Amino acid sequence: LVCSMRAHYRSFSFSASLRNVMPAWVIDKYGENEVLRFTKNAALPIIHYPNEVTVKVHAAGLNPIDISMRGSYGAATMAMKRDPLNMKQSGSEFPLILGRDVSGEIIECGLDVNYFKPGDQVWAAIPPWKQGSLAEFVVLSANEVSHKPKSLRHVEAASIPYVAATAWSAIVNTGGLNKDNSSKKRVLVLGGSGGVGTLAIQMVKAWGAHVTVTCSQNAEQLVRDLGADDVVDYTAGPVEKKLQTLQKLVFDLILDNIGGESEKWALDLLKPWNGAKYVTLVTPFLHNTDLLGLADGMMQSGVTIGCKVLKHLRKGVHYRWGFFAPSGPTLDEISEMVDAGKVRPVVEEVFSFAQVPQGFQKVEQGHARGKTVVSII
Ligand code: NDP
Repeated sequence: LVCSMRAHYRSFSFSASLRNVMPAWVIDKYGENEVLRFTKNAALPIIHYPNEVTVKVHAAGLNPIDISMRGSYGAATMAMKRDPLNMKQSGSEFPLILGRDVSGEIIECGLDVNYFKPGDQVWAAIPPWKQGSLAEFVVLSANEVSHKPKSLRHVEAASIPYVAATAWSAIVNTGGLNKDNSSKKRVLVLGGSGGVGTLAIQMVKAWGAHVTVTCSQNAEQLVRDLGADDVVDYTAGPVEKKLQTLQKLVFDLILDNIGGESEKWALDLLKPWNGAKYVTLVTPFLHNTDLLGLADGMMQSGVTIGCKVLKHLRKGVHYRWGFFAPSGPTLDEISEMVDAGKVRPVVEEVFSFAQVPQGFQKVEQGHARGKTVVSII
């Protein structure tokens, strides 16, 4: 299945496949940070389908979902996505490699891959059911991969794909905004200082929307530099009161990166009977399937979302759940925005490959100001 490779990759790949192993951070069971284990002998991933590519990882991004998955979050749904027909003998996801962002170089292409060739500099957001990027190599479908922005180094590029694909899925696919219809729209980003927020602000600002952001006081300058027009400090008293006095009933889209109590008041800030939408990224979907099993968990989620949608429809506003969606074409669009200077990476801290556990600790502490990245080579 593997296409012919350029000569200088042939020797490299040959020695790699002779080894059949690679360095990686793996977990062998779920738990706290001590379950992270470095090994030089992780199985070398191989191309199984003609539309797959092998990427040599230069840098990997960390996300809150890495911390959650280390502790077994989403295990039931991921098991189903990995093995829908339950055919695998081992029945185990371990050793599991975390890391959802990759920036690196294509070293091998499946026979059907035309858009990429060995040597291409690429980036990707890796679906949570696939082996991740805290390793020397990762195998992905070509349609999950995109040429990385030329203007970025790998450590900068690795800070963007997962949060960008999530923000795009929530804002464009679910929220209905895009570069052609956003210029007169007002967007509220709840939680603007973290990974998804810093990307979302830049996207909708680039499309001409007016952007209001909630964050801690010490993140105000950061979000203003990224394009926020109005900023509300959520640590200085009830944020909903301030937002109501600021702009009652004016938002066309609310992106909620915080969840919890915010959905009790945020929908009152939407323009009613105008197609306005509230999209939250904090959903009980994976928690439900972990707790109740796949069938009951999905049914429970369906009932919950159905009730909430109907309740808010009666008031003329739309309630939605947003989800990460892997997509090379989306990253192509983001790549263009980056190279045009419309979106920039916000890298808070870079850890070496040896420091992956410290990187996890950093992300686990919360209070992100942009992204945490691991430099692999
Ligand atoms: P981060 O940890 O990068 O950012 C969260 C940010 O929110 C931090 O900067 C934090 O800073 C700030 N914050 C915390 N509490 C509040 C508050 N009450 N009001 C305003 N800001 C607050 O997370 P991500 O941006 O990567 O992800 C955001 C959320 O979306 C997470 O819950 C994540 O799990 C979820 N998510 C869901 C996906 C899906 O498919 N459904 C995909 C990706 C993410 P500080 O505490 O200092 O204020």
